[in-house]
Amino acid sequence: LVHHRDLKRQLQEKLPPRLFTLIQEAGQLADRLDLPLYVVGGCVRDLLLGIENLDLDLVVEGDGIAFARKLAAEQLGRVKAHDRFGTAVIVLPDGLKLDVATARTEYYEYPTALPTVEQSSIKKDLYRRDFTINALAVRLNGRGFGEVLDFYGGQRDLKNQAIRVLHSLSFVEDPTRVFRAVRFETRFGFHLGKDTLALAKAAVKMALFQKLSGHRLLEELKALCSEREPKSGLKRLAELDLLRFIHPKLSWTPRLEKLLFAVEETLDWYRLLYLDRKLEAWLVYMMAIAAVLPDRGVTDLLKRFPFSEREATTLKALRGGAHRLLRQLSKQPPLKPSGVCRILEGAQDEALVAIMAQSPSDRVKRLVSAYLTAWRQAVPRLTGKDLQSMGIKPGPIYGTVLTQLRDAHLDGLVKTEAEERAFIEKLLRR
Ligand code: ATP
Repeated sequence: LVHHRDLKRQLQEKLPPRLFTLIQEAGQLADRLDLPLYVVGGCVRDLLLGIENLDLDLVVEGDGIAFARKLAAEQLGRVKAHDRFGTAVIVLPDGLKLDVATARTEYYEYPTALPTVEQSSIKKDLYRRDFTINALAVRLNGRGFGEVLDFYGGQRDLKNQAIRVLHSLSFVEDPTRVFRAVRFETRFGFHLGKDTLALAKAAVKMALFQKLSGHRLLEELKALCSEREPKSGLKRLAELDLLRFIHPKLSWTPRLEKLLFAVEETLDWYRLLYLDRKLEAWLVYMMAIAAVLPDRGVTDLLKRFPFSEREATTLKALRGGAHRLLRQLSKQPPLKPSGVCRILEGAQDEALVAIMAQSPSDRVKRLVSAYLTAWRQAVPRLTGKDLQSMGIKPGPIYGTVLTQLRDAHLDGLVKTEAEERAFIEKLLRR
């Protein structure tokens, strides 16, 4: 990695042509309006690291919302503005999104408060950001197009693989940044700079994290657990003595480590199997965390963090530990497929993956895997319509008959349509 003065070529080579044209046109509009325009943050960082990142954040030295409206009008897009922050999102006809912000300074009236916002210069705007590597900007205006603005040593830190804050009060202003720091360490294999590490440790001693809202902390945890290898991130949280802010009883133990390893493996397996399915991997990690907490652990987590209803349901599915489920699944003599289905019915994929990861026995793992890949989807040939044409009067009996038919189908007792009919007739005679 070398220090760049000009990223025009990289922008042209790394961005899809459509996006490149878009930022060029944005730059031309900014020229006409005589407003300095920049692309900032994660996208610039990733451009320098050679990592694809199509989330462009634009910053205008001037009214960002007004600029967004004009750019959207030119590009036939729509604008959603947040007046309080001077920010806007442009949504283009093809679904492409572009964030536009007013260059601003933020004042924190007290630690962990939401900042008070004021329009200002790009240099000050970059100064309020979390780390030097995220405080780089690239100019998009006409002649200066592609010029790098590096006021705080971001390029040097990218080269040294260091996560560094911009000033010593950074973590006091916003303690979630400690979690963000760990996330970037985990993602890039970087390390906290020496001073930044000391500041992070001081922040932990001051216990600012208790004051953080469950919402903000959860957002950070979700983000960390959505990284490719959250295990090392969680271990790092433990090293920094941060796990206790997730739950006072949470600590790094061989059991947790082993479980996280199993979660990683099971998630890999799941992703290979279902390339197209979206799984909330972070939720599986949450379940692993809940699994090593004392009994009330899940209840505590649900109180501390604003999980969505679906997330809460998934977490609760494992309340009382996955132990009970695992015990049921490992019954002797072995359960029939229909029995496994009855136990796992309705469980979200996240919960199934979590159970598999927690299962110490291969036999149980295979049962859950069979449920996930085959049994759950299994349906008999005959449906309610067929029952009707067999002259059975519609009513609650349909549910009973179809459930039993499905069970028989799952357990291999009926294979052909004729066998299914015979099964139903016998059932009704009884
Ligand atoms: P990712 O690749 O995870 O999206 P990102 O750097 O784009 O990384 P975002 O959370 O999207 O991260 O934030 C965009 C930018 O806003 C960051 O690059 C950073 O400059 C700034 N930022 C985000 N959160 C904070 C924070 N808590 N404190 C200061 N600056 C922040």
